[in-house]
Amino acid sequence: MTTVRATAPGRVNLIGEHTDYNGGLCLPIAIPLGTTATVTRRDDEAVHVTSDRAPEGSAWRQYVDGVVAELRTLGWAVPGLDIEVTSTLPLGGGLSSSAALECAVATAVAGLLGHELDSHLRRVLAEVARRAETLHVGAPTGGMDQLASMLGWPDHALLLDFADLERPGVTPVPCRPGAAGVVLLVTDTGVRHRLADGDGGYAQRRRECEAGDPRRWRHVRSENERVRAAAAAMEAGAWGRVGELMVASHVSLRDDFEVSCRELDLTVEAALAAGALGSRMTGGGFGGCTITVTHEGRVDAVRDGIDAAYEAAGLPRPVHHEVAPAEGARLT
Ligand code: ADP
Ligand code: MG
Repeated sequence: MTTVRATAPGRVNLIGEHTDYNGGLCLPIAIPLGTTATVTRRDDEAVHVTSDRAPEGSAWRQYVDGVVAELRTLGWAVPGLDIEVTSTLPLGGGLSSSAALECAVATAVAGLLGHELDSHLRRVLAEVARRAETLHVGAPTGGMDQLASMLGWPDHALLLDFADLERPGVTPVPCRPGAAGVVLLVTDTGVRHRLADGDGGYAQRRRECEAGDPRRWRHVRSENERVRAAAAAMEAGAWGRVGELMVASHVSLRDDFEVSCRELDLTVEAALAAGALGSRMTGGGFGGCTITVTHEGRVDAVRDGIDAAYEAAGLPRPVHHEVAPAEGARLT
């Protein structure tokens, strides 16, 4: 085969933030938005990449070059390639467009080389993608995003346990919001963080955790307990309890971990005021998205309430996405 196409999803983390790199727990789902990579074998050694969403500059190429380099480190004979990337994900919005890009490219190249995409290879490619982002881009990600993008499954969230960073535990947990009459609503604040920025807040928090800062660790410890409780509640369809735990998570991220921002707090408060069961910032923070759980019958009121709060604050209208657990990376 000379041309292979693969699609990999973004993810939203239901609960468990800034825990992955601290040996803790998180509970992401893969989402229906994603990135597609079409790879074609070239006769020379060059790697050419285009993207319909290419940001200014060429820094984004490092994600792709990093994946190719890490696949070669595995001993794979990756030939020269033409790579065409398209995406339905917001870039830098906290829904992990970076992992989707890495995983789409890795999966397409694996397909081109004839490797079977079984569960072992999925884990290998998640690690290739994590190393590409950490070692080549310089964004110290913990591994949640890449595992969610490679291993996500419909009707399930993934309980990820990073106690062993070398080999994270992955336990699928039933997640059927529709069956319980609730909706998962992602709201993109439009505020963009800079994860790849080594001096950014994310890297600073990692250093503070490494140094043992008690307040940061109070968040990590309490968050791990909330993840366990939320996974059990979700499996039981007790979405009201999941919502309460999400709110507690937001408060901890805002006050103890200090990675929220005005727009994230405003979104959470407006969602709760409009009757949502729960809401929290999701992703690294300092902007990006919130995740809200609400009864189906209230979803319009919640959207409208958030939009009205933005208008009153003089902020540009946010973008909402209804999401449900989706399939991980696949050939398409
Ligand atoms: P997130 O993963 O939450 O979207 P990141 O800052 O981790 O945010 O990654 C965003 C960066 O990833 C973009 O600035 C860009 O460099 C790269 N990227 C992601 N998706 C694409 C794409 N489809 N085309 C080009 N670059 C992309
Ligand atoms: Mg990312």
